This record gives sequence, C-alpha cells and structure tokens, in this order.
Amino acid sequence: MGGERITRRGVIVGAGAGLVAAATGAYAGRDEIERWWWRVSGRERPRTDGALDHAGAEWVAASSANWRRASRPDDYTIDRIVVHVVQGSYGDALDVFRDPLHEAAAHYVVRKDGHIAQTVRELDVAFHSGNRRFNERSIGIEHEGYVDRPAGFTDAMYTASARLAAGICARYRIPVDRTHLVAHSEVPGTDHTDPGPHWDWDRYLRLVREAAG
Ligand SMILES: [Zn+2]
Repeated sequence: MGGERITRRGVIVGAGAGLVAAATGAYAGRDEIERWWWRVSGRERPRTDGALDHAGAEWVAASSANWRRASRPDDYTIDRIVVHVVQGSYGDALDVFRDPLHEAAAHYVVRKDGHIAQTVRELDVAFHSGNRRFNERSIGIEHEGYVDRPAGFTDAMYTASARLAAGICARYRIPVDRTHLVAHSEVPGTDHTDPGPHWDWDRYLRLVREAAG
C-alpha cells in the first residue's frame, strides 16, 4: 500500500477542494480541479458525473479520497472481480465509502433485497482489496451482511449480484470461473476474511453463467 499512499496523497489535495465546491453547489470549481488533474495525468476520457456502468443501479458517489482516477481498461486490464461482505449494513457501507478518511471503497454495494448502489465508476481504481495491483485489475462488489450470518445472503442478493457480475464479465471478456471471480480473503497480502466460508461459490458462479447465457 506504500506506493499507493503517495499517489493518493496527491489526489486528496485536489479532492478536498472539490468536496467543498460540491457542497456549496459550485460545480464549476470542481470541474476546474478535474481538468487540472487530467492535464497532470496526461490522459482524458469523456465522463459524465453520476453516469452508471450497471443499468438499474443507484449512483451514490464514494469520496474521491477512496479511489483513484484511471481510464480502464485502456491503462489497466480488468480481469478480476473481488467479492466482499460488508460486516455491516448496506447503509454502513455507503457511509464509510463517503468518508474521505476511510481510505477504502468498492465499486458496488448489493443490498439484501437485490438493490445495487454504484459508488465508483468501473474505469476508476477503487481501493477495496488492500493490494494495489489487484485494485488496478479488478472490480469490487460489496454485499450487505456478515460473514458468519449466511441467512443474510438472500436469493435476491445472489441473483442481483450475479447479474451485475455477468455484465462486468461481458464488458471486459472475463471468464466466469473461480480464477477470475475471487474472494477478498484470496487477494495476496490481505488480512480480510470476507466473504467467508458461507458464501456459496457454486451457486454464485451458476447464477453468473445463467445471467450471462
Ligand atoms: Zn472485503
């Protein structure tokens, strides 16, 4: 995480002013900062604030301190989906993702009833796996609930998440298998245990294949 910290520090400086501008409704100020950032990064891709990658998702922006601007899949190949469990509620996840001091956010949060929030654009690198290279190559999906409460992993949640994952696999030509759809606990260097032993991978992969088919 050391290298990432340096990059993130640079982003925080710009993002802090951007957050103030957004809070006061001065969107021109934020746009100026974004243009400045793009000049520095030397690459640009058209984007619309609040635009979604998954149809039907609700846009709930994470703090820009919790992700890094990128232009995936042009600058980084996307070939992994990382499955997470929040260890809390859907609302808890959205709250911490909006917190600029949290230092983490995933791209999506799936609620028990199947509702999905998108919090970071797929072209950007979200800080969700605790591993810089893995963040650069992956999309992170959080699921409401707790690793030791499998009853909270509802049919609606599995189905909605599988439909989301199928769309991601189609967009970036990711094979639907356990090499490419991984647990957060399987990411090298992580000390996280989610989604835990109760996450039904056979069922999840079957549903992803069905949704893709
Ligand atoms: Zn996780």
